[in-house]
Amino acid sequence: MHTQFTNPPAQIQISGSDRCQLRFDNFQKIIELTYRYTMNENLEKILTDSFTITDGAWGTQFREFGIGPGECPDGWNLSSPRIVEKIARTYIEAGSKIILTNTFRANRISLGSYGLGEKVREINQAGVKIALNAVRKRALVFGSVGPTGKMFTSRYISDTELFDVYSEQAQLLVDAGVDAVMLESMIDLAEAKIALKAIKETGIPAGVSMVFDAGREKDLTMMGNTPEQAAAEFTMAGADIIGANCGLGIEGYIPILKRLRSSTNKPIWIKPSAGVPGIVQGNVVYSTSPQVFAQYAKVLVTHGASFIGGCCGASPEYINLVCKLLKTK
Ligand SMILES: [Zn+2]
Repeated sequence: MHTQFTNPPAQIQISGSDRCQLRFDNFQKIIELTYRYTMNENLEKILTDSFTITDGAWGTQFREFGIGPGECPDGWNLSSPRIVEKIARTYIEAGSKIILTNTFRANRISLGSYGLGEKVREINQAGVKIALNAVRKRALVFGSVGPTGKMFTSRYISDTELFDVYSEQAQLLVDAGVDAVMLESMIDLAEAKIALKAIKETGIPAGVSMVFDAGREKDLTMMGNTPEQAAAEFTMAGADIIGANCGLGIEGYIPILKRLRSSTNKPIWIKPSAGVPGIVQGNVVYSTSPQVFAQYAKVLVTHGASFIGGCCGASPEYINLVCKLLKTK
């Protein structure tokens, strides 16, 4: 029987560091249960009293390691695997229980724009191998899939071609051993649904997260989709996790989370950026401090976020503080 989730408790009781492992175990059950989909009564219970901390920003970390302008971070899976593994390990040490693979751009179209279109297989396989080496069973590995950027290319790309491009990447990630695949930073609902369908066809649990930072209220995707519309359509399309990432500063995520929460019974994934970037003495500095970020992360959990992490600017220091405040480490 399909049941509606009750609202999460106003205050989540968090005590004892041993609960961290419990949440991790619960998460594995979440994946199993969401995937089978019919055992929602158990899933409801798990989701009302647990949450999982994911990783934070990758682009910010690549800049720390000196990535050049116009260089493809995913290409580092082949040219600098030790650095990629080090970034993943730093997030594990900060307390992340889910690590995404460094494959956000590793579809044939995006890699093609860096002249790496023929390296799709190698880059995805290496991305998963690096993540698995880094986590050593201390966290789950989610395959990261991002948008193709098709709207920014002059070439016409049909829905069928788009589907094939996502299928190719998803199958490579699945064959290499990811626990789930997460679509992040999606800006076009139509493209996200095609990608989701391609991932679901591999048989792996699949999540999808959109960027809501357009419109007067900064609550729409660039293509004008609302959180309610996205949540409802992704639920219908079989997404196992639904969420929002990047764009807004973390305070803007509270209303977005509530609106997603009211439109789906699926677990909600939230990865805000660390605010607005600025340049101070030649360095990129983000407007939200790790302390403020962690406080808001706690509020997001009390409002029912099942997965919390960070996007642009939210470095391991941010994730570490989130884990400390939420007593998961
Ligand atoms: Zn971001």
